[in-house]
Amino acid sequence: MQKQSLLYEGKAKKIYQTDDKQVYWVEYLDQATALNGLKKDSITGKGTLNNQITSAIFQELRKNKIESHFVEMISKTEQLIEAVTMFPLEVVVRNITAGSFAKRFGKEEGALLAFPVIEFYYKNDVLDDPMMNEDHIKVLEIATERQILEIKQQALQVNTALLALFAKADIRLVDFKLEFGQRADGTILLADEISPDTCRLWDATTNEHLDKDIYRRDLGDLIPVYKEVLARLTK
Ligand code: UDP
Repeated sequence: MQKQSLLYEGKAKKIYQTDDKQVYWVEYLDQATALNGLKKDSITGKGTLNNQITSAIFQELRKNKIESHFVEMISKTEQLIEAVTMFPLEVVVRNITAGSFAKRFGKEEGALLAFPVIEFYYKNDVLDDPMMNEDHIKVLEIATERQILEIKQQALQVNTALLALFAKADIRLVDFKLEFGQRADGTILLADEISPDTCRLWDATTNEHLDKDIYRRDLGDLIPVYKEVLARLTK
């Protein structure tokens, strides 16, 4: 497989085309950002850890019959993925109150929600990723009603599988963000990454943060924490 031209550079990843039209080449960067890019730092070792964690999680999901764009990890910072057309949506699933949910509704962090709550955000840096409802998604022709339903169903299946996976690692899965893409035949496929950058993970006993809130909230060094997550997931 040959790496070819750069297709997209995100905040923490670069995506390249390959000589196979169906496959993209992803490089995980040592970059950390928060506040929609206002806070930005290079953190040595972060790319390696997120690549390994994401790869381990997608492999585990596959064992649970949940497909994703993940093909294989090809180096410590790189993986191959299936080329899909992304929906410009961030799909957030929440099990426990935290972050923007706690802030928006004036709630304490840490309360168990009666059921998993799904939220959609429009992936648009210029607009600062505004929250959207299903009518917004339909009227802006981002996805159809059927596609939204399918995305919600898949997001809930991923939640069930991830809750079990993290529970085995003594981690509470508070909330997380997913992204989905579409194959040429219209199949909707889980994509992007699942890592401590995109999940809130709390130690099951101490409730200590094991995720990017360490960086967002200036709570210390993120690398040992991400290493701990990888070690627990792969033990
Ligand atoms: N999240 C993400 N990317 C984003 C925004 C949120 O991966 O651009 C994840 C975040 O890590 C958390 C969940 O989505 O696990 C919910 O984030 P929230 O809406 O509480 O926003 P935040 O507090 O991160 O601003």
